[in-house]
Amino acid sequence: MITIAKPQIGQEEKDAVMEVMGSGMIASGGVVSEFEKEFASYIGMQHGIACTSGTTALEIALRALGIGAGDKVVTTAYSFIASTNGIVYTGATPVFADIDEKTFNIDPESAEECLKQNPDAKALLIVHLFGQPCNMDKLCALAKKYNVKLIEDCAQAHGALWNDKKAGSFGDVSTFSFYPTKNMTTGEGGIVLTNDEAVAEKARLIENHGMKIRYTHDIIGHNYRMTNIAAAIGREQLKKLDGFNDLRRRNAACYNGEIQNKAMIVPYVDEHAKHVYHQYTIRVTEGKRDQLIKTFEENGIGYGIFYPFSIPEQPCYKEMNFKTAYPVTDRVKKEVLSIPVHPGITEDEVKTVARVINSL
Ligand SMILES: *Cc1c(COP(=O)(O)O)cnc(C)c1O
Repeated sequence: MITIAKPQIGQEEKDAVMEVMGSGMIASGGVVSEFEKEFASYIGMQHGIACTSGTTALEIALRALGIGAGDKVVTTAYSFIASTNGIVYTGATPVFADIDEKTFNIDPESAEECLKQNPDAKALLIVHLFGQPCNMDKLCALAKKYNVKLIEDCAQAHGALWNDKKAGSFGDVSTFSFYPTKNMTTGEGGIVLTNDEAVAEKARLIENHGMKIRYTHDIIGHNYRMTNIAAAIGREQLKKLDGFNDLRRRNAACYNGEIQNKAMIVPYVDEHAKHVYHQYTIRVTEGKRDQLIKTFEENGIGYGIFYPFSIPEQPCYKEMNFKTAYPVTDRVKKEVLSIPVHPGITEDEVKTVARVINSL
C-alpha cells in the first residue's frame, strides 16, 4: 500500500517526548516557549503563540485582530472548511472569492471584486493551498488599497516561499497547523504569528482564559494552549522540515517527468513561488477521475480528493444562504486528485504511481 500521507516520527521525537514526560511539566511551559521562538524565527516573524490546532489558530488570529459579529471577511471558496469556520466562529460573515484555475489559490481579481462590492470588509483571509504560496505581490497590494487586514492560512505551506520570502511573513497575522498529515507535525497543534506586539498580547489572552495576571480574567478567553509534549515533537520536526520539503519536491519533480497522459494536468508552479507540495494535485480531465480512482484502489495506491465541494456549498452552511456558484472552483472540484508525495515514499514508488496513471 502506498498511502496518501505518512507522518515521519523518528527516535529524536520519541526521546524528546520522553524527556518532557520525565520532567513532570507535561502541559504548557518552557518547551512551548522555545518552540514558539524557533518557529517564529524560522518563518521570519517576531511573535509566535502556539495553540491546539490550525483551526484554533485561525479563530485566535481573527479575534486578536478585532474581527467579530457584523464584520465581513473576504476569503477563498476552495479550501479545507476550517479556514472559513475560523471566520464563522467569531460571528463575522465570510464573503467568498473564486480561485485561479492554474494554482487553485484565491484569484486576486475575484478577491478585488468582493472588496469593491463590500467596502465595509475588515479583512482578507487567504490560504496557500497544497503548499504553493498565493500571489503575494497582488494580494498585499489589495489589502493595502482596500485597507483591510491580511491573514495568511499557512496550514499547508510550512517553508514555502514567494520571491524568496516565507509564506506566513506577509500578513498582519499568519497561522499554521501541525496536524500529522501536514509538512511537519506536533500530533495536534497550531501557531499564530505576528509582528504586532498588541495583536500578540491579545492572542495570548484569548488562548489562555483571558489571563495575564493569574486568576484575573480580562476577557472571556479559551484554553487553546499547546502542551510541552506537542511542542517537544514540534522542535524536532522543525529541524527536519527543510529536509522533508526537499523530499516532497524531489517526488513532485519525479512525477512531473514521469506522468505522460494527455488527460492529466500536472501542478502548475508560478515562477515566483517555491511550492512545498503539501499535496501533489493533478487534474484528471475527460471525466476519467472515477476510473483512475478505481485503478488506484485495485493497485493499493492512496489518493485524496481535496476537495469534492466548494466551502459555501457545504451542508453545514445551508442556512447561511451563501452564493454557491463559483465557476472555476466548480470546474476544478470535479477534476482534482491528490496523489502520494510525502517524504515517506521512494522514487520507485513514485514511478509505480506514475505508471498506473499512464496506463489509463
Ligand atoms: C489543516 C488545515 C487547517 C486546520 O488545521 P487543524 O490543525 O487540522 O485544525 C486549516 N486550514 C487549512 C487550509 C488546512 O489545510
